[in-house]
Amino acid sequence: MRIDVLTLFPEMFSGPLETSIVGRAQTAGIVGVHLWNIRDFTSDRHRQVDDYPFGGGAGMVMKPEPVFAAVRHVLGEDDAPVLLMTPQGERLSHTLAEQLSCERRLVIVCGHYEGVDERIRQSLITKEISIGDYVLTGGELPAMVVIDTVVRFLPGVLGEASAVHTDSFAQGLLEYPQYTRPRDFEGLTVPEVLLSGDHQRIADWRRCQSLRRTLERRPDLLREIDLKPRDAALLASMRDECDQS
Ligand code: SAM
Repeated sequence: MRIDVLTLFPEMFSGPLETSIVGRAQTAGIVGVHLWNIRDFTSDRHRQVDDYPFGGGAGMVMKPEPVFAAVRHVLGEDDAPVLLMTPQGERLSHTLAEQLSCERRLVIVCGHYEGVDERIRQSLITKEISIGDYVLTGGELPAMVVIDTVVRFLPGVLGEASAVHTDSFAQGLLEYPQYTRPRDFEGLTVPEVLLSGDHQRIADWRRCQSLRRTLERRPDLLREIDLKPRDAALLASMRDECDQS
């Protein structure tokens, strides 16, 4: 996969994209992230990328010309989704990230200041993405979040291929609790079932924990999935437990 990022602050990306799993995915050639400075696509002497908003008001707005020039240069004759990071976009989710990971190529535009001139959204952008209901100073951190979550889905990126399918949200539930050594940490012990070596019991326990966690923390998720009869029965007994306590 190829990802082109258009930003006023390419230097912000160096740490997160070069380290750990995303860094290794780039080294392995599974993904290539290309950073472009929007300022390099200005044609005036002052390399101006923003201007005052028509109609007045606080802050500056990113001008259309350099962003259009940058996207046209980066795409050339090619075609690819052009994503705008914006708090007004579709909320990023597991499903959206997985869909994006199926693309051969992505272009990501990072806003800054008060945001971008509306004509950029109208004529250049194919999808607007938000990482949550809060406002950041720029689209760089949201772009890194999108890249990180998309790259996890690319084949060969995660050592354990199934992890991406058992993590929280993959099957509509939150993941079960995880433990590692030591078995006893300051009197806090690992559940006995996980030491039993009985794969079926472990799988049942994990499913049950997953359902319990989701019920306790994100009951909204349970409304979105088709529960197997066994899961539905487990949930019903958990709800009874809660009612009785
Ligand atoms: N004035 C804009 C508004 O109220 O919708 C907010 C602009 S924000 C200060 C500057 C830039 O940060 C945005 O153009 C966008 O690229 C990025 N940004 C801020 N919050 C974001 C979020 N929750 N998700 C994605 N991008 C965000």
